[in-house]
Amino acid sequence: MTPPALHWRPATELAAGLDAGDLTSVELTEAIIRRCDDVEPHIAAFLQRTDERALTGAAAADARRARGEALTPWDGIPVAYKDIFVTRDVPTTAGSRILERWVPPYDATVVERCSAAGMPLFGKTNLDQFAMGSSTEHSGFHPSRNPWDPARVPGGSSGGSAALVAAGAVPWAWGTDTGGSVRQPAALCGIVGAKPTYGLVSRYGMVAFASSLDQAGPLTRSVEDAAALLSTAAGHDPRDSTSIRDGAPNLLEGLGEGIAGKRIGVVEEFGGEGSQPGVRARVDDAYGRLERLGAVLEEVSLPSFEHAIPAYYLIAPAEASSNLARYDGVRYGPRRVATDIVAMNSKTRADGFGAEVKRRIMIGTYALSAGYYDAYYGKAQKVRTLIVEDLKRAFQRVDLIVCPTSPTTAFKLGERTADPLSMYLSDVYTVPVNLAGVPAMSVPCGTSPDDGLPVGLQIIAPVLDERSMFQAAYAFEQDLGWAESDEGRPNL
Ligand code: GLN
Repeated sequence: MTPPALHWRPATELAAGLDAGDLTSVELTEAIIRRCDDVEPHIAAFLQRTDERALTGAAAADARRARGEALTPWDGIPVAYKDIFVTRDVPTTAGSRILERWVPPYDATVVERCSAAGMPLFGKTNLDQFAMGSSTEHSGFHPSRNPWDPARVPGGSSGGSAALVAAGAVPWAWGTDTGGSVRQPAALCGIVGAKPTYGLVSRYGMVAFASSLDQAGPLTRSVEDAAALLSTAAGHDPRDSTSIRDGAPNLLEGLGEGIAGKRIGVVEEFGGEGSQPGVRARVDDAYGRLERLGAVLEEVSLPSFEHAIPAYYLIAPAEASSNLARYDGVRYGPRRVATDIVAMNSKTRADGFGAEVKRRIMIGTYALSAGYYDAYYGKAQKVRTLIVEDLKRAFQRVDLIVCPTSPTTAFKLGERTADPLSMYLSDVYTVPVNLAGVPAMSVPCGTSPDDGLPVGLQIIAPVLDERSMFQAAYAFEQDLGWAESDEGRPNL
């Protein structure tokens, strides 16, 4: 068998190539630039390329390696960031015109840690404005497209990152996940995406959407890569008050331990008509595979999950309405000229924010207003507690929980933009996880027989048990073998 072209190799394999001297970081970066030039016209995944900066970083990495001073095994492997991570001297927009041409004076902790590990910054990727959306169609600049079928969305909100990784354009990329924005695009693009336990990765320098839900997560072509990238950035950060003190595991350790004897829960409430038949078929196959790998499957009931969407779409907008108050035309981005400060403020916001952002600010402000607070925000918080309790109860019986990541495969551009509710329903299997703060990841489980598009299996773990989650995902991925086969790659 001929080895796969450079651009399809997982980052950890590329790192081994650098280490063995088969490849330099500059050669790799040049190959990435060529591949991006080829695929970008089809997928429109970048908001900003930083080719020159990446090449300079690559040359520095090669020089370190030549002196025997590689900083980490990943020194010299470029990484792309969703354009919601602030990057010093590189414009950061959060996908919104309201931050157009804003150049941050500092790096997010995720960026700082990956840079300290030697990874050159390779561009900023497209997203739904302020990460509000499930398709990248709410980007203030342009939608991105799915490399499996450019007439379809890559999912969202981290759609640019997912499309690039799936297209073999960048080895790996960072996204953020508030209600599913790493896992859902990973599923729709046929790659791996992980959302860690809330607090495992610092939110410092991640433009805030809903602070009690936001987490950073890796988008990669292999489970091992996701473990490596997440482990690089995880760990306590005093600049984020919600950062967990002791959670900095090296998830590569014990990755291959397998799942023999693990108890895995299948969500009773998610079994029925809720998903596309092809998604159900692939996910059912996945359950069978987990059983053959030695896991013991049993049904678990999570009755509160059916209320997760309404609870999430009150809590997230409530937090967003507060977080987005800072875009006032004074502190960041462009300013509209007006006769007084209130008019300036409102003109700047009216022009700068997109329709979905305005909708969320209105929902959030309403839900928090005196007289309605208990009926909406208060009730949603109670549902949140029920979800936490349901999961706690389930995790007394099982080690992990599995379900589809998304109820459908990638949908067509324009199909859901006129109907916000249909867009929100894309997140039905992912939002309960953010409300509970537990870790979850999406791992590819093949293509749907009804449309040939990728399907993702979601694996949910108890708080801070990323290790078990990654072991299960790895065992599943290795046994399926889909990702390394031609079948696991879009024809682009
Ligand atoms: N699609 C969800 C929303 O629109 C989740 C977004 C996210 O995780 N950032 O809020």
